[in-house]
Amino acid sequence: MSEPVIAVHAGAGTYSDALRQHEAACRDALQAALESAGAALEDGQDAVAAVRSAVMAMESFALFNAGFGSALCADGSVEMSAAVMRGSDRAAGAVAAITRTKHPIVGAHALLDAPQVLMIGDRADEYAAARGADAWEPSMFVTERQRRRLEEREAGDSPGEHGTVGAVCLDSAGLLAAATSTGGRLGQPPGRVGDTPLIGAGTWADRTVAVSCTGEGEAFIRVGAARLLAALVEQGIALEAAAQTVLDEVHSCGGGGGLIAVDARGNVATPFSTEAMPRGVWRAGGNLTLELT
Ligand code: ASP
Repeated sequence: MSEPVIAVHAGAGTYSDALRQHEAACRDALQAALESAGAALEDGQDAVAAVRSAVMAMESFALFNAGFGSALCADGSVEMSAAVMRGSDRAAGAVAAITRTKHPIVGAHALLDAPQVLMIGDRADEYAAARGADAWEPSMFVTERQRRRLEEREAGDSPGEHGTVGAVCLDSAGLLAAATSTGGRLGQPPGRVGDTPLIGAGTWADRTVAVSCTGEGEAFIRVGAARLLAALVEQGIALEAAAQTVLDEVHSCGGGGGLIAVDARGNVATPFSTEAMPRGVWRAGGNLTLELT
């Protein structure tokens, strides 16, 4: 038996005006995500259900860059990606560049026990819808706030990045799981896919550790960041030190960002190299910590 623990993040980035102005709402959204995941565990559901539930809650929150309220591509469209992984058997499901699935993490979860791991675009949306996932019109994901951010970016301002969401969990049976969901990078070319849905880059879970990454996806991909963390932990390196080594590697590939990780003993690491990374940790009994910077 393990002491269950859940950690969530809402993206590494700047301590932007939006974050400053909406601090309380962001904290509430993190808390709601942790509480829904905690309730799933208390209800007897497993770590996979818990991370799915946490990510769904954060995808619904317009200020986070996932699901409704995702960052816009250069042409004003929304393309979303998500992944989920179960540590016991390394089952994984992921979707990339989808435009219709209301909760991208539900689309990823629909693939968890399928023969294929990753599906993209319209076919992934259709696959999810055929398995009961709610679908929206693509325009329904676009918020006024993200339209303004794209305009600011086009005008040469840097509106700051944060908002990709992720969750990791160790449940009482010792199962580890990780999930991540994103709208990608503001102003990205349509078709660009970051680290989030790539198993071993932005998302990973095995029997030793569960990891969800956020930041400049290209650098996380080139480092194989999430899997690298698992390899270091397997070698006996303590979680915190291993997580820092991974971020150093990401930095040496020219990227900033952060990650959340939990190991099989219930240790949690939440390092980041940016100004802010809204995050929270839930432990059995409802003990919560929430931090933004
Ligand atoms: N890692 C995500 C990507 O590159 C973005 C983020 O975490 O902010 O698509």
